[in-house]
Amino acid sequence: MVWFKMMFVKGMQITGNVQPKLLRYFFLFCFSVLIFFISHIYTSYINEKASVAERTANSSLLISEWIKGAFTASDYVLRDIVSSISVAQLKYPSTEPVEFDRISKYIEAKKNTLPNASGVGLNDSHCIVTHTPSIVGFDASHREWCNVPMHNPQLETYVSNIFLSNINEMMVIQSRKFPGNDFTGLAAIGLNLDFFSKWLNQVSIDSHGVIAIVDHNRLLLARKPFLPDKIGKEIKASVINNFIQSENNHISLSSTSPLDNEQRLYSVRKVDDLPFIVIVGEANQDWLAGLYKQFFISAFITLLLWLMAWQVLRHSQQLLAHERELEQLSITDKLTGLYNRHKLDDVLNIELKRSKRFGHSLSVIMIDLDHFKSVNDTYGHQIGDQVLIEVAQLLKTHSRETDIVGRWGGEEFLIICTNTNTDGVKYLANILREQIETHNFPIKERKTASFGVTSYIQDDNSHAFILRADEALYKAKDNGRNRVEIG
Ligand code: GH3
Ligand code: MG
Ligand code: MG
Repeated sequence: MVWFKMMFVKGMQITGNVQPKLLRYFFLFCFSVLIFFISHIYTSYINEKASVAERTANSSLLISEWIKGAFTASDYVLRDIVSSISVAQLKYPSTEPVEFDRISKYIEAKKNTLPNASGVGLNDSHCIVTHTPSIVGFDASHREWCNVPMHNPQLETYVSNIFLSNINEMMVIQSRKFPGNDFTGLAAIGLNLDFFSKWLNQVSIDSHGVIAIVDHNRLLLARKPFLPDKIGKEIKASVINNFIQSENNHISLSSTSPLDNEQRLYSVRKVDDLPFIVIVGEANQDWLAGLYKQFFISAFITLLLWLMAWQVLRHSQQLLAHERELEQLSITDKLTGLYNRHKLDDVLNIELKRSKRFGHSLSVIMIDLDHFKSVNDTYGHQIGDQVLIEVAQLLKTHSRETDIVGRWGGEEFLIICTNTNTDGVKYLANILREQIETHNFPIKERKTASFGVTSYIQDDNSHAFILRADEALYKAKDNGRNRVEIG
């Protein structure tokens, strides 16, 4: 509130006579500070947004590489299986129980080398399951994981979208065909979705951040933070749908999560050759928190700079006013408020030069109060001062605006009358004389003054000019006072 008071209450006091140039500088400074503040916040925002986009893009890349790595590792196991088992053994029901047992144990042992596999199985050329720890004889020809490789000769290996298996588990199946030109069967590894979730759990994220893996049907495979009731369910977000359809491999976007309504900056990335999409998001409230802090600090500094500028403006204004006051004092007579001798000298010199150069007429009136000493003696110095003040007012009021009226010293006054010839100055002097003579001063008797006037003659200097006026004044005194004499 203090600054408010300073800005507005104290501010009002100086707006009346504030220097336009200073005010212009002040506003220019405030405007520059504001522009700096806005551009600083804007660039910080852009930079922060860019670094969040980069961070999330890097994380999504890392996760997608990890997924690829995991599937490559399991594909090695599948390669092993399809090269070690003869296609002739892919029969249901098996006619060779010993061989059946051996193969079953073999694939079980292979499964155990993959910590995340929930099962390994073999299918014949009709997609009938011939070997598996669960249900042998199951016809998987309608399942995507067997159906697609069966009908696509160019595919050697395939990873399915999520589906609900016949053992009632959401899973993904990775399969590899037995070698040969025709489809003779395949080996398959079932991956339980825990596999994805467990791994994501080890990745650290911000308090409101998210990492998710979805398949190409937009079903959620895994998510951190974990939302058990959403796993295996479809994520209804048109942006993801559009992204899957598009040619793009990666996009960065700002969106509101359909799962927890959190606003985030997301990196959405396809995992090469696999039907998965990795989503990494940083919540706006997390990454904007630092910016808010910066905003408030910068806003505070901006206000502080404005306030400082305002103070500088005020002080400059006060200094200027003070300077003017001093200047005024240096040319003013303290008692009467008229110009002092110093100023009169200056003006006289300037006007003499002007008259010399342009031939303008110029006159002066030298005034001395008659028997002024007796005022002080009779009524005291204070009344004497009052009489001097009133005489000064009379002289100022009854001379012309262009005349320069000053106190020459003591009870003597000088009036410089520009563009005035002898007749004019004599006329004015007589008016002033009458005004003084008829004025009621705060004393019993009337007061008079004697006047000496003179006009500029060629090549006059100030000394000679004033001397003539002074002599005229003495003549007026000698001739009985209360009169005007010309020098
Ligand atoms: P004259 O008619 O010959 O001019 O007589 P005078 O008394 O006016 O002249 P004199 O020079 O003898 O006296 C001038 C007086 O003016 C003396 C001084 O006390 C008085 N005086 C000068 N300056 C001031 C002032 O500032 N205030 C007061 N009250 N008196 C002043
Ligand atoms: Mg005198
Ligand atoms: Mg006098």
